[in-house]
Amino acid sequence: MASDKPVNLLDLDRKAMEDYFTSLGAKPFHGRNVLKWIHKHGVTDFGQMTDLSKKLRASLHAQAQVRLPEIVLEQPSLDGTVKWVMELADGQRIETVYIPDGHRSTVCVSSQVGCALDCSFCSTARQGFNRNLSVGEIIGQVWHVTRRMGKPPTNVVLMGMGEPLANFAPVVRAMDLMQDDLAYMLSKYRVTISTSGIVPNLYRLREVSDVSLAVSLHAPDNELRNELVPINRKYPLETLIPACRAFVRNDKRRKVTWEYVMLDGVNDSLGHARALIRLLEGTPSKMNLIPFNPFPGTDYRTSPPERIEAFRQKLMKAGIMAILRKTRGDDIDAACGQLVGKVQDRSGRTMVSLRQRQLQGLST
Ligand code: SAH
Repeated sequence: MASDKPVNLLDLDRKAMEDYFTSLGAKPFHGRNVLKWIHKHGVTDFGQMTDLSKKLRASLHAQAQVRLPEIVLEQPSLDGTVKWVMELADGQRIETVYIPDGHRSTVCVSSQVGCALDCSFCSTARQGFNRNLSVGEIIGQVWHVTRRMGKPPTNVVLMGMGEPLANFAPVVRAMDLMQDDLAYMLSKYRVTISTSGIVPNLYRLREVSDVSLAVSLHAPDNELRNELVPINRKYPLETLIPACRAFVRNDKRRKVTWEYVMLDGVNDSLGHARALIRLLEGTPSKMNLIPFNPFPGTDYRTSPPERIEAFRQKLMKAGIMAILRKTRGDDIDAACGQLVGKVQDRSGRTMVSLRQRQLQGLST
């Protein structure tokens, strides 16, 4: 499909789609139909959108396209996790991960190419920041996974590459599409945005969206957090914690999910656990302890299992629900903090891309 058409329909949420069809001289419901064709039925060819008039299809052909990211690599993990590398129109690459777990299936979506926040234990940070993703590039990841798996995921987490709250408007629109009945129909409890804590945007988000909140905490005090999550220097804990509390205040079912990466000898003592308990007093909380996932060039190591368990027990005794997040997909570098948009395996060999396999007739 030519890429010079002005409008990418994948960038449009319901309201934008209705407005676009009105501007074409059609009715808003035509826009809703097209939204459904694209996201619910996976149809991107206007010729197959049989409830549109010939004339309307012709104007769409002339002015619009459905431009999806292109899957260049599909890597299945031994544990059922699948990682895709997707290439964008300008050649940039992002990663998307699918994590099946019983009846649940979670898609971990990227929001930026690279990341500017420079957390010391994250490999995406090493890549630096390239650019924000558009709405279409974010929702396009969910589109692809839905098609490849034959049904929509039960959960989406914005925990892939990038800081979602640093790409505010496109992320909010994409999350609206995830929840739209004409698209992926996920409840607000099943769409989770993960942030390292861009405090003003947390307040903004609360005004326009009602999704679930996960926050990358990783340390119980400013001194340590400044080192691990440098954005803390700008938005320290005394500003972050009240913003998170405000986010969940109006819904009794809500808790803030805190992410806490377990780094050997850095943030994993019982003293750290005690400080955490004090910090979170009065905030409805759930703690996700994440074993550190190593990557080449890092000096950090993951905490030993018994220390993680002691840490977890300490939190549980204080009434904080704490779970150890299973490491998934680490054999394909798909685990938290390992996403870098590369197409090389660990030995530096370039993997055979899907496109190449298709060309060779090995895959359809
Ligand atoms: N920028 C957002 C989204 C990334 S989410 C955020 O910071 O929340 C990915 C989660 O994995 C974050 O909690 C991040 O801190 C964590 N993470 C990053 N690198 C990791 C690593 N090497 N091992 C385990 N978790 C890591």
